[in-house]
Amino acid sequence: MSLADKLAEERRARLAAERLLELKQAELSAANRKLGRHALALTKQIGQTQAEVATVRDENAKVKSDLHTANEKIETAERRLWHSIQAFQDGFAFFDAAGHLIGANTAYLNIFDGLEEVTPGITYERILELLIEEGLISTGSMKARDWHAMMSERWHCDSPEPVVVQLWDERYLRLIDQRGHGGDVVTLALDITSTVRYEQELQDARARAEAANRAKSAFLANMSHEIRTPMNGVVGMAELLNDTELDDEQRLYAKTIKNSGEALLVIINDVLDYSKIEADKLELHPQEFDLERSLHEVVMLLQPTARDKGLALLVDYDLFLPTCFIGDPGRIRQVLTNLIGNAVKFTKQGHVTLRVTGIASPEEGQCAVHVTIEDTGIGIPEDKIEHVFGEFNQVEDERNRKFEGTGLGLAISKRLIEMMGGEIWVESEDGKGSCFGFRVPLPVKAPAEQTLPKLPSSLRHVLLVDDVPLNCEILQKHLQMLGLKVTTAGTAAEALTAMQGGVNLVLSGHNLPGLDGLQLARDLRSYGWNGVPVLLLNSSPHAAIGSDVRQLVSGVLQSPAPRDDLFSQLARLGSEAANPEAPRAAAAPAAAAPAAAPAVSPAPAAAVPLAPAAPAFRKMRVLAAEDNKTNQLVFRKIVKELNIELQFAGNGLEAVEAYKHFQPDLIFMDISMPMMDGKEATAEIRKLEAGTGSHVHIVALTAHAMAGDSEGILAAGLDHYLTKPLRKALIHEQIRSHAPANIQPVEAGSVPPEAAAGNAP
Ligand code: ADP
Repeated sequence: MSLADKLAEERRARLAAERLLELKQAELSAANRKLGRHALALTKQIGQTQAEVATVRDENAKVKSDLHTANEKIETAERRLWHSIQAFQDGFAFFDAAGHLIGANTAYLNIFDGLEEVTPGITYERILELLIEEGLISTGSMKARDWHAMMSERWHCDSPEPVVVQLWDERYLRLIDQRGHGGDVVTLALDITSTVRYEQELQDARARAEAANRAKSAFLANMSHEIRTPMNGVVGMAELLNDTELDDEQRLYAKTIKNSGEALLVIINDVLDYSKIEADKLELHPQEFDLERSLHEVVMLLQPTARDKGLALLVDYDLFLPTCFIGDPGRIRQVLTNLIGNAVKFTKQGHVTLRVTGIASPEEGQCAVHVTIEDTGIGIPEDKIEHVFGEFNQVEDERNRKFEGTGLGLAISKRLIEMMGGEIWVESEDGKGSCFGFRVPLPVKAPAEQTLPKLPSSLRHVLLVDDVPLNCEILQKHLQMLGLKVTTAGTAAEALTAMQGGVNLVLSGHNLPGLDGLQLARDLRSYGWNGVPVLLLNSSPHAAIGSDVRQLVSGVLQSPAPRDDLFSQLARLGSEAANPEAPRAAAAPAAAAPAAAPAVSPAPAAAVPLAPAAPAFRKMRVLAAEDNKTNQLVFRKIVKELNIELQFAGNGLEAVEAYKHFQPDLIFMDISMPMMDGKEATAEIRKLEAGTGSHVHIVALTAHAMAGDSEGILAAGLDHYLTKPLRKALIHEQIRSHAPANIQPVEAGSVPPEAAAGNAP
């Protein structure tokens, strides 16, 4: 090859190389540019990643710190929880589902008295075994094995019932176990020792209260009997007395005794029914009544006691106060009896004064009646004053407890007065006396105007003789209201002097110091004052007023005198005073208000004369078992007009004996008798009758007014029962309906005369 060719070839090769180099350079720079771009992107990415790592690191640190705080909180909560659980006075424990103890507070562990075995991990079964083995538990009447079985079975229930266990040291625990979701059990052991003791005490107290209540019922039953028995005598005798020939004055007394006695019996029943008041079941029975009369009836009932104690019992009934009201007279009398009775009871000397006033409100047609009972008795210490109106509350001191009583009277009175819309109170000074008062609104019955007696003009000047100034004062007011001139004298001697002043009438107390009222009347006669009538005031309604007295005085007035009685006496005596020459005997018998005096009942039929023929049949035989002599007498009188053969037995034993020998057709059997009571005696008689085919009718006579008595009596074999006081009609009815055939008729009217003759009691 030529050089030129070689050079050309070389140049072409160089040019090609140069082009290739250029190409490669261009590729290289393109690659460089790409690399640069990639590096930039990578740098960016690294920066980003670095930022992310920093964030995560920060977050990690925060989580760590939060976790730490949370852990601290949990620890605090756990510590507090344990502290609280430990602070429990009661036992607390928890077990896992397999019954292993997880934890327990000290109170729980103390149950085991320091046994080291009782630590977390011990099973509940083992705990039960330990309780028995170590004698930590008292299983009572249950065998240890049975107790264990019972407790174990209970533990496995889904929701065990609480159970009470008794520990060796007399403590009582109530175990309450609660099973959670995973089978864990939380146990509470509550110490209920004080509750159990308290319950026991409550039970004891309840038993004591029930015993006391039974004692109270028995006391009431007894009291009812004790009071009713003598009252039966009083009421029965007064009833019989009413059937005899009496003058008006005597009839008034007999009636008052009967009425008052019956009022008292009503009151006794009311006391027995005290529970009715308690239960707000007591009702008032308003009716028209005379308050002044009711008051005097109560006073008359209490007068004998007052007189025996030498107390003046005075009544000052406001002259301008009406006497007829609408109210419950029984209840008002009950309150009065209680208050006046207390005043008399707690007063040794001095007086008991009743004052009745009232504030009328005519537009409402009623009157606020205000009654006070003032005494000069032992009084009530200041700190006991409110206490006396409570149930069974009595002032407990030496002076006071010499007196008998139930402590119920004032509580009943308070309730009654409150029921009437009134109020009751007491003012008292220890050692000086008391003043009980009450105020009740009562509708007025009659118009308030006074009906004053018409006195003849000749009666102008009355001499009042009484040693109790207050009594003179009260009577003086009444007499002055009639326009009479009144001179007072405290003794008979003073009275004789005072006669000089032209006296037309002498009104004198019976029991005067020194010279008594009767002697004064005698002296007046002997001194020539024959023409001046004398009226005697007598506080004893039972005192026999003999004909000698009647010769001397013109009339006897019950003291304190009801206004009506005083006025009607004056009206009658006024006319006598106007006509001093009138024969005294004509005026003598009528002491009570003549207009109001009931007609004297006709005398009982005279005895029937004997007839010759002997009776063909025997009389009916009646046995009455009754220990009380007065009641025997009452019974005898009740049946006296019947043609029967009557025999008495003084107790149950005698009744059984009499049954054997007397062979009665009918027996009246008192229930409460000494030696053997009526129920026992009846049982004996029923035994004797057994198999004989006979059955004597036995009627119980009982003073017990308690509910449930009748069942007890009939259950004892008696056929029928009557409560005292005995009622003639009921006794006769029993006799008539149980009279056997083939005996003489029991009715006196149909008796063959010779039979009646042998029957005088
Ligand atoms: P009782 O008289 O049956 O004990 P009361 O309820 O009537 O019951 O009276 C309660 C108590 O109030 C009496 O026991 C007595 O201590 C006292 N008391 C009542 N009235 C009087 C009185 N007039 N004077 C002194 N104490 C009285």
